[in-house]
Amino acid sequence: MLDTLEIIESFSYTYMEKLSVLIAEDDPVQRKMLVSLLTQLGLHVRTAEDGQEAWEQLQEQPAHLVITDWLMPGMSGKELVEKIRGEKFDHYIYIILLTSKDDSGDLVSGLTAGADDYVTKPFNPKELEARISVAQRILKLEDELLNTKSELERLAAYDGLTGLLNRRAFTERAEVELNRAKRENWPAGVIFFDIDNFKQFNDTYGHAVGDEVLQHLASVVSSAIRPYDLFGRWAGDEFICLITASFEESTQTIAERIRKQVASSTIRTSNGAIPVTVSVGMAYQNELQEASLDALLLDADKALYEAKGKGRNRIAVISN
Ligand code: GH3
Ligand code: MG
Repeated sequence: MLDTLEIIESFSYTYMEKLSVLIAEDDPVQRKMLVSLLTQLGLHVRTAEDGQEAWEQLQEQPAHLVITDWLMPGMSGKELVEKIRGEKFDHYIYIILLTSKDDSGDLVSGLTAGADDYVTKPFNPKELEARISVAQRILKLEDELLNTKSELERLAAYDGLTGLLNRRAFTERAEVELNRAKRENWPAGVIFFDIDNFKQFNDTYGHAVGDEVLQHLASVVSSAIRPYDLFGRWAGDEFICLITASFEESTQTIAERIRKQVASSTIRTSNGAIPVTVSVGMAYQNELQEASLDALLLDADKALYEAKGKGRNRIAVISN
């Protein structure tokens, strides 16, 4: 028959690394045993002497796993479970109830309250280890799901070719930014620009070189605007910037700088250096309370049309 220490030493330590656990247990002997066992497993362990203390600790710093006693003075384990499930944390908190109660009605009520699993006391360390490995499996799955979700959100927001915000994400963020500008009473401007005679690039050099031009343009223009200005790919060879908190003259300077910087940088592609120009349409709204993104877009589009009509590689402005 193995004693507890031998059992602890026979555990595998590797798979539980990085998992943080909070133990809520009022009995000092039990608490000490749990700490020594879980620390041996490689877990990052914290302790609380009752439910209330555990709850306060979790609000300051959440844990991946909570192992809680059922009967504690003040806030019980079951109440702690209910509190955790009523709160929104960034990550799921897996909860194991430790209880000397083996009445199935109590277990059902603990699980219904939101606990994921339970272990009856006196617990067998091997069994607790096995339950924790189940917790880790579930938490790892949740972590993978969250990573996939944020990767999907990133893919949904950015244009695959240029890495700029796509039209949908730009529009969403521009609406937020415009509302903020309205609250702060800042003016706002929209700058549309479109590559001149881009069809010819594709026809002359091929679509792949056209793609390189679009990528290069995105990086040239990124350096011509302020880091906090919104910049996106609107469609095809058409790009867009939203400039807030900037006087009309400064916004026009930015529009002119975009045009100049593109025109003066010969774009190096796998087919050699190619000169590129853009036409720029700028819409500016002094009285922001009157402004809507749709109205700014409409004016910027009209201005762009005017710049194209007047011979390209120039800017046109509509100001209200
Ligand atoms: P204009 O000066 O009037 O703008 O003339 P343009 O030839 O640039 O005409 P327009 O802006 O209408 O043409 C856009 C072209 O951009 C048409 C399309 O083939 C090309 N295009 C759109 N998206 C892409 C892309 O992702 N890659 C490449 N290589 N070409 C694209
Ligand atoms: Mg074009």
